[in-house]
Amino acid sequence: MSGLRARTVRRAAGTTGEGAAGLSTHAPHAPQAAQSTAQPVTPPVTPADRHPAAQPVTLPGTLDEAVAALAAMPAAVPVAGGTDLMASVNSGQLRPAALVGLGRIGEIRGWEYLDGHALLGAGLTLARMGRPDFAALIPALAASARAAGPAQIRNAGTLGGNIVSAAPTGDTLPVLAALEATLIIAGPGGARREVPASHLLAGMELLHAGEVVGYVRVPLLHAPQTFLKATGRTGPGRALASAAVVLDPARRNVRCAIGAVAPMPLRPLEAEQWVASLIDWDGQRGLAPEALAAFGDYVAMACIPDPPPAEEGGEQPPPLPPAALHLRRTVAALARRGLGRALA
Ligand SMILES: Cc1cc2nc3c(=O)[nH]c(=O)nc-3n(C[C@H](O)[C@H](O)[C@H](O)COP(=O)(O)OP(=O)(O)OC[C@H]3O[C@@H](n4cnc5c(N)ncnc54)[C@H](O)[C@@H]3O)c2cc1C
Repeated sequence: MSGLRARTVRRAAGTTGEGAAGLSTHAPHAPQAAQSTAQPVTPPVTPADRHPAAQPVTLPGTLDEAVAALAAMPAAVPVAGGTDLMASVNSGQLRPAALVGLGRIGEIRGWEYLDGHALLGAGLTLARMGRPDFAALIPALAASARAAGPAQIRNAGTLGGNIVSAAPTGDTLPVLAALEATLIIAGPGGARREVPASHLLAGMELLHAGEVVGYVRVPLLHAPQTFLKATGRTGPGRALASAAVVLDPARRNVRCAIGAVAPMPLRPLEAEQWVASLIDWDGQRGLAPEALAAFGDYVAMACIPDPPPAEEGGEQPPPLPPAALHLRRTVAALARRGLGRALA
């Protein structure tokens, strides 16, 4: 599995195979039976075979207890809804020695208001974030949560898991990037550190072993914001591309982040500044269709640029393949529509 935590997990717990000493789920062969039949013997099926994920599970009731449990078992891995983690376990990519379940930590399953911000618990489920009261608070984040996978995934999957998995197709991630959200990370001894979500997603900062994402701090902008996702199919699916557009009238900013086209959400900063300068922030905020289309193209070219021209005398690079051109058009359409709806 990919993700911010995976780097820690691989170091701490090892993956499947020879390196995962002591974690074998296979019972030892029965030598006497093998001698009498001279045939390969199928080892008896044990509970561990039927449930390869059967590791010790600790269920702390507070964030600090979770951190303490991880400190006590350095090879343990935190698990929230398990939608990503258990998929990795079931596919044999990951075999954690122990699990620290975060599902009983009440303090991270809701949200509160703090100094013009919302403090969102990392244990908020995607389903909870999709409800109308949350949508009234942070509409783009609610829209991204509603777009993430089928209902059973949204019922179990959490905001914190979406962030730490850091899949390029993580739907909440471009919204958090556009909102310039920060993460509050709990560490040993009651320590808390605050890190911009985009720094963690870009790998500029990493989760250290034993740390847990506790909260996500999101500024409340009281202005329109949108999230749009293209999947290339009907019904729930992973994003081919997604776009979050956020208006920040107090700072006269437009912020846009594009998901799924790169390992982390991309912010086309020049396009943001250009379009913000066109908006009449004190009057009607609408933009002409041509300006919206130009914004879409600007964003798409920034996120999926042409190959750089060849040096003098050098061979011209090949043009972008059709799939990349199609993706660029998709990004342009998402950014154009996202901004158009935010300004409507
Ligand atoms: C069929 C299917 C479809 C999906 N479709 C989508 C989709 O359309 N869009 C989308 O965005 N996602 C999708 N997902 C991915 C998944 O549902 C989300 O990433 C989910 O939000 C993960 O949350 P979780 O609580 O289940 O995380 P878990 O699986 O419990 O954990 C994931 C990782 O995060 C770590 N972790 C979890 N919480 C914390 C924490 N608080 N602090 C530190 N580390 C933590 C775990 O150790 C693990 O490494 C899909 C998944 C499946 C299986």
